[in-house]
Amino acid sequence: MRPIAQVLFSSVVLIAFAFCQGNPKPELKFDIGAVDRSANPCANFYQFACGGWIAKNPIPADRPYWAVFQQMREINDRRIQNILEHAAAVTPDRSANDQKIGDYYSSCADENTIEAKGLAPLRAELDRIRAISSRDDLASEVARLHEVGTDALFSVYADTRLSDASQVIFYVDQSQLNLPEPTYYTSNEPDSTKAHEGYRAHLEQIFELLGDQPGDAAAAASDVLRIETTLARASLTPVERRDRQAWYHEMNASGPVSVTPNFAWKAYFSAIGFEPVGTINIAVPPYMQALNGLLADTPLSAWKNYFRWELVRVATPALPERFRKAEFDFYSATLRGVKEQESRTKQCVSLTNRDLGEAVGRKYVELYFPPETRQRALDLVGRIRAAMRDDFDQISWMTPATRKEAQHKLDLLRAMIGYPAHWRDYSKLEVKRGDALGNALRGQMVEFQRQLAKIGKPVDREEFYELVQGVEGYHDNPLNVIVFTAGILQPPFFDPVMDDAINFGLAGAVVGHELSHAFDDKGHQFDGEGNLRNWWTAQDAKNYEERAACFVKQYSQYPIVDDIKVNGELTLGENIADNGGLQLSYRAFEATPAENKPPIDGFTPEQRFFLGWAQWRCMNVTEKTARVLARSDPHSPGKWRVNGVVSNMPGFAKAYQCKQDDAMVNADPCRIW
Ligand SMILES: [Zn+2]
Repeated sequence: MRPIAQVLFSSVVLIAFAFCQGNPKPELKFDIGAVDRSANPCANFYQFACGGWIAKNPIPADRPYWAVFQQMREINDRRIQNILEHAAAVTPDRSANDQKIGDYYSSCADENTIEAKGLAPLRAELDRIRAISSRDDLASEVARLHEVGTDALFSVYADTRLSDASQVIFYVDQSQLNLPEPTYYTSNEPDSTKAHEGYRAHLEQIFELLGDQPGDAAAAASDVLRIETTLARASLTPVERRDRQAWYHEMNASGPVSVTPNFAWKAYFSAIGFEPVGTINIAVPPYMQALNGLLADTPLSAWKNYFRWELVRVATPALPERFRKAEFDFYSATLRGVKEQESRTKQCVSLTNRDLGEAVGRKYVELYFPPETRQRALDLVGRIRAAMRDDFDQISWMTPATRKEAQHKLDLLRAMIGYPAHWRDYSKLEVKRGDALGNALRGQMVEFQRQLAKIGKPVDREEFYELVQGVEGYHDNPLNVIVFTAGILQPPFFDPVMDDAINFGLAGAVVGHELSHAFDDKGHQFDGEGNLRNWWTAQDAKNYEERAACFVKQYSQYPIVDDIKVNGELTLGENIADNGGLQLSYRAFEATPAENKPPIDGFTPEQRFFLGWAQWRCMNVTEKTARVLARSDPHSPGKWRVNGVVSNMPGFAKAYQCKQDDAMVNADPCRIW
């Protein structure tokens, strides 16, 4: 096989090399200066590997946290802003896509026009809400709010039928709600109570901005809180949703009516232009039953307040500054400790990505993702895959028949690298210059209809579920695919000019992470064809659970802030994937030829391998954001993603010559892969 990386012996040579080639210097790269050489790697490897980075990279004022992958996002966003500003210039030969992305972005960024229009662009929506006078009107309004991108009352989308991954069916699921996770509404502990009070004040402010008198605004806020709290009580928590089957309940087309008879489904389906046939997933029946109760005892006036709030929530990026400021004050400052509001232009980059993502992504790929990078990434994936195949041959906890199943699933697993085989068509989206809100609502409507159109048709196996310009990698069970976007296959995550140690420690480990998801406690519920079929025996499950319990115990001890510790259950799947990913990549790295692995900057290749892994996780985070993430993020904090994994790896102890009683040496290491 071809070496994955050029062998170059120092960073000085690297930069010179980049200039000689006439390439622009990469804006980010693996940085040996991030290492804190005063720290002891065997006592706290995260501090050793990231101490320099942490000191040099305070959180930007408009961010809740900062990390190397956030720096990559920022670079991609700047690149996209350039693309959009270019496309915004009106020239006679502008392509149809350039007209859309350019006019969308420039309308969104046109503060003067947005301020001058005030609430006028929302008027028709607000009038319709005010006029609701029947159960049918109510259902039609929910339809309208769903079309424009809200999760009012419940959410609907198209997704795979679990028993037959070739089919796409209609999902009716719990709403995302408007606080980070359901227990913010229901728990009495101090963080939740504070968030709750801040939320009430925020709602009152929004209703006043919509023109309500203070007393009415307070009553409207109470309406919203009562509705959302009832829905939150019936919602599954993030830990409960780790079990894919906990939110999967197939029913026939009359399922919605039988579970939530108080909702006028006929009016709803007619308004979204969709005729339910065949199978529907009512994801969380108790949630829909709780909603049924709410519909029976909530007056129309309260629903109207809730709908006004849902509308503002989705419209805010295209509304006057006072709405954006209010949103920032609560969601970013109060809840996440962010100091400064993000500029409107930054927000407009995100919004254009949201509604015209692949039209933008296509240009990003042309400019920033050469075919050689794709080829090299495929090569890396091949090597990690081979390491996994070896692992299946040797793994002790799988019974022989199960190993065969695992091999089969691995054989069928596809890798999609960079960008999709075909690009999305945006011809149905009308973008009008100067109509920021209209563009945003129409953008969401086109997307909603695109989702509905999938239902009843064969699944599109080539679709990317993340934007190609995003910094993303994922695994999808029904499609049995791992995906890495063009936006993540950039330095320092994947850097063709670096040595193998860095690319395997970093990108290789993340490839291994995603691969391992196909075979973990979620993955084993799906076979190689993507159908829901448990291919483990009871003995495999028992063996796996014993090993998983080791990780739960290990991570649950790690502190975050005050007395908050890592939630070992919530983060279990990701911790196992982190551990498995680095193990697999280490195995693959050991198999690469020695000539690709020079010592550099005084570090052995093995030491650099672990530095690569750690540097991807270097981060600074506000205390408030750390509190929110502790409850809602299935990933552990950066520090523990580094230290938790390396302390389970004998290869790490060997590379850094750690002793048996050092903190980074787990005497009884947890291991699955
Ligand atoms: Zn993961």
